[in-house]
Amino acid sequence: MDRADPPTSTELQGYELREKQLLASFAMHSCDSDGRNHPEAPHPYRGPFARDRDRILHSSAFRRLSGKMQVFTGEMGVYHRTRLTHTFEVASVARTMSRVLELNEDLTEALALMHDIGHPPYGHCGEDVLSECMNEVGGFSHNEFALVIVNELEQRYAGFPGLNLSRETLAGQDVRAHKAEAEIGRSPMLEVQVVDIADSIAYDAHDVDDALQMGLLSIDELSRLAIIRRSLERIREKHRSLPAVHLRQSLVHELIDLQVSDLLQMAMERLRAVEGKSTSEVSNQGLRLCHSGTISDERKELESFLFDAVYRHERLMEVREAASDRLRTLFEILLQDPQRLPLRFRERAQRVHIEKVVGEYLAGMTDAFCDAQFQFAAQYDSGSLADW
Ligand code: MG
Repeated sequence: MDRADPPTSTELQGYELREKQLLASFAMHSCDSDGRNHPEAPHPYRGPFARDRDRILHSSAFRRLSGKMQVFTGEMGVYHRTRLTHTFEVASVARTMSRVLELNEDLTEALALMHDIGHPPYGHCGEDVLSECMNEVGGFSHNEFALVIVNELEQRYAGFPGLNLSRETLAGQDVRAHKAEAEIGRSPMLEVQVVDIADSIAYDAHDVDDALQMGLLSIDELSRLAIIRRSLERIREKHRSLPAVHLRQSLVHELIDLQVSDLLQMAMERLRAVEGKSTSEVSNQGLRLCHSGTISDERKELESFLFDAVYRHERLMEVREAASDRLRTLFEILLQDPQRLPLRFRERAQRVHIEKVVGEYLAGMTDAFCDAQFQFAAQYDSGSLADW
């Protein structure tokens, strides 16, 4: 077959050929995958990373993201993001960037859908409490816990525990957990970098949206930030005046668009210089995707503003303190009386340190499930808690 001819639609159903046609040399190609820990036959029309994405999407840990708070809790309204909707926003931004940069979209999506799967209930305060309680076993990291979930705790297949994901998908999460490659001068796969950047673009923008909608912030207060003024100017170029609700939504749209466009422009320049190189050559070279200096500074200014004005807002701090107390109490109850753990976790405690097992059980819970277990444990002195 002459490769100068465009491929037919039947040919493009084969994922390897499709990737060859559409992906850059430095993208992670399915045909270069190192396989899975438990070997499996290839799928007729889904590549290995598309299968990983589907396995993550169908996992119970993924569904539980719908009941986990991102920044704001259910008590604070129904408009704001949960971890699940945050995850979909990250996947959407990441896929867009991946497609423009000719990277592997399936792998990008798999990594994006997995990126927050290890988060405990109650957002960041949940992670802080578990880290403190699990101090003797090295603390708690949601990035590491994501690997425990996909490798050990998910129960989907008869032949092996976990989801048996491709080694590259696992390595992408592992690098987020351990940041090991940075220490030896390598850079993470480009698909991993795209997901990390999409994560921060998405949460900065949607936290602005959620905080404005809840009245924790005003556009006037935000206007002291350069990136907000820049976005508002872009809006004014298109609309003379906007009602408040449209202004808020246009602001979120512009914030995302501005940062994605800046990232892509910078990335395309950098990637042009490595055309023809493979994933590992680019990684060995330590190539990093980043924003321009101006946008990067403006993003830092926005993030530090959000940290003080939103994440430390007194309405949020009150909710957080009460949630932290519930989680800490549950941890102590279970550590003192491990018989109250669900059977699966009691069995796990024969192989894994008890503090770790208690932390894992609590970390897998949704906010409401954790509340219910807390009520049960506080009301009754014995009886095992429910499995998720
Ligand atoms: Mg995230």
